Amino acid sequence: MTATDSTKHQKSKALKPGSRRPAKELCSECGLCDTYYIHYVKESCAFLTQHIAELEEEIHGRSRNLDNPDDWYFGVSQNMMAARKKEPIEGAQWTGIVSTIAIEMLEKGIVEGVVCVQNTKEDRFQPMPIIARNREEILAAKVNKPTLSPNLSVLEQIEKSGMKRLLVIGVGCQIQALRTVEKKLGLEKLYVLGTPCVDNVSRAGLQKFLDTTSRSPETVVSYEFMQDFNVHFKHEDGSEEKVPFFGLNTKELKDVFAPSCLSCFDYVNSLADLVVGYMGAPFGWQWIVVRNDTGQEMLDLVTDQLNTQPVMSQGNRKEAVQQSIPAYEKGVTLPMWAAKLMGVFIERIGPKGLEYARFSIDSHFTRNYLYVKRNYPEKLEAHVPEYAKRIVGQYKLPDV
Ligand code: FAD
Ligand code: SF4
Ligand code: SF4
Repeated sequence: MTATDSTKHQKSKALKPGSRRPAKELCSECGLCDTYYIHYVKESCAFLTQHIAELEEEIHGRSRNLDNPDDWYFGVSQNMMAARKKEPIEGAQWTGIVSTIAIEMLEKGIVEGVVCVQNTKEDRFQPMPIIARNREEILAAKVNKPTLSPNLSVLEQIEKSGMKRLLVIGVGCQIQALRTVEKKLGLEKLYVLGTPCVDNVSRAGLQKFLDTTSRSPETVVSYEFMQDFNVHFKHEDGSEEKVPFFGLNTKELKDVFAPSCLSCFDYVNSLADLVVGYMGAPFGWQWIVVRNDTGQEMLDLVTDQLNTQPVMSQGNRKEAVQQSIPAYEKGVTLPMWAAKLMGVFIERIGPKGLEYARFSIDSHFTRNYLYVKRNYPEKLEAHVPEYAKRIVGQYKLPDV
């Protein structure tokens, strides 16, 4: 590190693994507190200071237009589409668009390293953040680690390595902290590739979810809550298991999600340059949100490898969301046959494309709003962003 670099920012002693974090039980283990950037935790931590609108202005040139409901839901954007790789990457979460963009950026020399997350040798779901410097290391990070992941724990290594151009892949809470300390990292250019994220769990919580829900928890390699209202589990032998959402044991699973994720209102990763998910796209396709020119530059690198189509929206989610609120509160679980029937019915007439994304955002934001109101009433006003208040305000909520 050069002398100027070291005087650019303040440092504090990183916390030891396992010790209590400043956000206490709301900590999502984003990794910042594992580094000397903990010095900036007060203003960076998504659970201590929510300042999405201010950061949007800084990064995208404007914050969400609160007169435009599409902005409430999907954030600042200049383009959206559905896409899939012509040749999917085997073993990726979906078709591997995220890994492909990372590989192109590295191999074309646009960045010198990529922050992403592999798993440990012993446990396929135990996250191990790294700075990847070649294609193999990026590919070894493909597929979701569906657990809280300390992606930012490698931030000190970036400064020490003298790297100037970097890509970070991450979820909303990680990216909010990263954007707050971005200027302290000594980089010339930071690219941020985000995924949506919801209902994340600790490693122990994940085990409980798998044990409660899958027929064979020990062979699950990945899973996703899909647009057909089923959880799809992929198993080691390549087989697929579908469990309808409406048949999940909601009573058992109510406290399985991490408190951070039950208090999270950044489902769509507002501060990334480019977001790659699936929920606003037809089944089998990925959903792409370009937030700014940097995001477009990243997407342009792979468009020749993609099939694309415009986003669509069909159905009306509102009634289903309103009815799901008291059902979730009461922890209603349907018998499996009824759950399957309901899944088939809703899939036929239910919300599709962007309307499905709105359905998922509405259901999670109303649940999370009630959770914060019940457990952290003193945080409610400042922690819930204005766009989320407008989304929640469309529904009748029970008194808590
Ligand atoms: P791949 O090419 O397989 O690459 C996946 C990338 O994700 C890797 O680079 C890896 O570094 C990174 N990653 C894996 N686990 C984590 C983690 N825990 N934290 C940070 N980064 C990680 N999309 C939706 O549309 N709706 C959702 O509800 C939704 N929920 C999600 C919940 C979680 C916990 C995660 C991690 C992602 C979620 N996504 C969701 C995103 C979606 O599942 C895919 O990750 C995304 O579409 C990219 O697929 P891909 O095939 O292009 O990724
Ligand atoms: Fe620290 Fe991140 Fe936890 Fe906040 S969420 S307390 S910044 S590790
Ligand atoms: Fe972070 Fe929100 Fe995902 Fe939880 S749901 S890991 S708080 S982005």
